[in-house]
Amino acid sequence: MSWHESYDFVIIGSGGGAVSAALAVKEAGKSALIIEKQARFGGSTAYSGGVLWIPNNYCLGRRDTPEKAALYLDSLLGDVGPASSPARRRAFIKRGTEMIDFLRRHGMKFKHAHWPDYYSDEAGGLAEGRSLISPMFDVNRLGGWRDRLARFDAWPDVPIAVQEFRALGLAKRTWKGRFTALRVGMRMAFKKATGKLLRGSGNAIQGRLLEIALRERVPILLSTPAQDLITEGDRVTGVLAEHDGKQIRIEARLGVLINAGGFSRNKEMRDLYQPKPIDPGWTLANPGDTGEMIRAGMQLGAAVDLMNEAWWLPASMKPDGSFGGLHVPSDAGKPHVIIVDSNGNRIGNEANAYMEFGQKMFAAHAVPAWAIIESRHRRNYPWGSTRPGNTPEDWIESGYMKRAETIEELARLCGIDAAGLRATVDRFNEFARVGRDDDFKRGYSAYNRYNGDSSHRPNACLGTIEKPPYYAVALYPSDVGTAGGLLTDEYARVLRQDGSAITNLYATGNSTASVMGRHYPGAGASIGASFTFGYIAALHACGSNR
Ligand SMILES: Cc1cc2nc3c(=O)[nH]c(=O)nc-3n(C[C@H](O)[C@H](O)[C@H](O)COP(=O)(O)OP(=O)(O)OC[C@H]3O[C@@H](n4cnc5c(N)ncnc54)[C@H](O)[C@@H]3O)c2cc1C
Repeated sequence: MSWHESYDFVIIGSGGGAVSAALAVKEAGKSALIIEKQARFGGSTAYSGGVLWIPNNYCLGRRDTPEKAALYLDSLLGDVGPASSPARRRAFIKRGTEMIDFLRRHGMKFKHAHWPDYYSDEAGGLAEGRSLISPMFDVNRLGGWRDRLARFDAWPDVPIAVQEFRALGLAKRTWKGRFTALRVGMRMAFKKATGKLLRGSGNAIQGRLLEIALRERVPILLSTPAQDLITEGDRVTGVLAEHDGKQIRIEARLGVLINAGGFSRNKEMRDLYQPKPIDPGWTLANPGDTGEMIRAGMQLGAAVDLMNEAWWLPASMKPDGSFGGLHVPSDAGKPHVIIVDSNGNRIGNEANAYMEFGQKMFAAHAVPAWAIIESRHRRNYPWGSTRPGNTPEDWIESGYMKRAETIEELARLCGIDAAGLRATVDRFNEFARVGRDDDFKRGYSAYNRYNGDSSHRPNACLGTIEKPPYYAVALYPSDVGTAGGLLTDEYARVLRQDGSAITNLYATGNSTASVMGRHYPGAGASIGASFTFGYIAALHACGSNR
């Protein structure tokens, strides 16, 4: 075989694990190349809130241990098969801690997000959470690469960290909310005065990592789609890619890492594998999330698992097809709102984890489901990305948001069973008055309360629905990526159906069946796992973790 380029390790896709893998390969004295099919670096990771869920990380000190984290994952995830085997969970916990320290040694900056684990009351759960973020990053530092960093263009270009949105949402209710608004305002003024292009969230992690990768001379080829994997016998030896309009063969002496995301935007795969109804237009994943590398692995005999899962995140859609916002649990966890099916029955705990709520919508055949919102919610809180208390009249005029003076009239406007909705609202109001949700325990866990309104009594998440006007918005099981894919082991090696590893083929992130199984343990569970298994793959390929 003749090669156009030759490296020890080739990484397909510039997702979360790409730079952690490339730096680990370099540290072992070997060479690594990252190829990215889009013209911009960073994938959905750069679009994201930029949160990583990493157990036992340096910010937690004695508050966490590997045993405590394992207890949490084991009790929460249960037995979901080999994607989340005990060995993979333990590898994630052990190497995740190590990977963060490794990246910090290379100049990466993290800080604790103080975001409760999503099942904070579960055995081993932490009320202070295991989530990390990266502080604001001035993307001007990337020089000529500045405009080649991917970003979610629908997000306003405001220097704000993802967890500050929550406090901002309470700007009309709490001092913390007011101070956050002031802090973000001052940061915007600073940005303007200094010319710095400060960004938080996914741009803070992927921007900083890109800066480190460039400084450490990791070669990165953008606009270079991998088309296939090259094999000799039963081992992977390289990648067939397109670059500058030509096909090139890139040798990968020690291995290939697939870090090419999932298949959120592949209609055929979603129709084949996912619960119905499903629409690739409901996803927020980056446009490159098209699944061809999962398919390439399958052609080599790789097994796949959890293909019916996604990181569900219930959202509303405007009549023109654009996003109205993500609502569970940030908006729906606040007082004076519930989510119901067409019979008027509540679907679950509206302040709980979004992935679980999406699963419940499918199980209840509630696509769409309806958020039933009372006037005080609209007076005090945001809806999607609006400022607190803002309900634009064109939402009503366009039919995006329904408005009525009675619950029965609102039900009729939405096609919900009116008697069913009336009964549900009456029952919920009883719960709200005493602060006890006997049906779904809303407001009981630290995570629930984090999504509520701390100034509201007796339960931060429960408020009656009794003061007109009433509002309703249809919700869909949107997602921020798929969660099933190639089956991998504790070394990130891609496995065949019989459990044997395909030599020199590794995968991480949404290209794999997630180590998190069918749950989302905490903010950043998807990106944390992608970073960690990218790092693990590099260690294994370079011989330092076999
Ligand atoms: C708005 C938003 C907010 C989110 N917030 C968070 C959060 O805070 N924390 C969290 O954990 N998760 C979050 N998520 C989900 C998370 O971003 C994704 O699950 C995660 O980033 C996936 O990472 P990855 O490493 O698998 O790949 P990605 O980051 O998606 O990158 C994959 C890359 O591979 C490229 N690629 C695909 N095919 C090829 C090919 N054939 N050749 C070359 N390149 C290819 C793609 O173009 C893409 O750039 C969020 C997602 C969104 C959209």
